[in-house]
Amino acid sequence: GFEMSYDEKNIFAKIIRGELPAEKIFENDKVLAFMDIMPRSPGHLLVIPKSSARNILDIDDENLCEVIKVVKKLAIASKKAMNATGVTIQQFSEADGGQEVFHLHFHIIPRYTGKPMNRPGQMVKDMTVLSMQANKIKAELGV
Ligand code: 5GP
Repeated sequence: GFEMSYDEKNIFAKIIRGELPAEKIFENDKVLAFMDIMPRSPGHLLVIPKSSARNILDIDDENLCEVIKVVKKLAIASKKAMNATGVTIQQFSEADGGQEVFHLHFHIIPRYTGKPMNRPGQMVKDMTVLSMQANKIKAELGV
């Protein structure tokens, strides 16, 4: 069948290569996590594989497992660091699945009692705010 191919020029590939800045939370040889610049809720972060996967439909199992382990670690750390009372995890595959950036990513969205998520695509958050939140989450991780 028709398969969309990986585009090396996507924004997250540029972040992995260090061509674009990001407020990084965690990094190892297979996985990178950083703050979402248009947070749906305070503390919203993204976890991505360093391997070239478009979305969950084409990633190999080994890299997916490395990513999901970090998703769990950061769900716990961000909930605690942000004093959240819940966490929403999202992953969108292909445009019709809601995907906008075509490098696999999991959203980790800390949630707070009585607070709905912000609408998508709102204003880019002040980088100093994102940096302060990143520092809190990193402190919780012990990095
Ligand atoms: P999705 O593809 O899952 O629909 O959404 C892509 C996500 O990436 C959105 O939540 C958006 O705010 C985030 N995003 C888009 N461009 C950038 C960027 O340049 N840097 C960061 N850190 N996040 C981005």
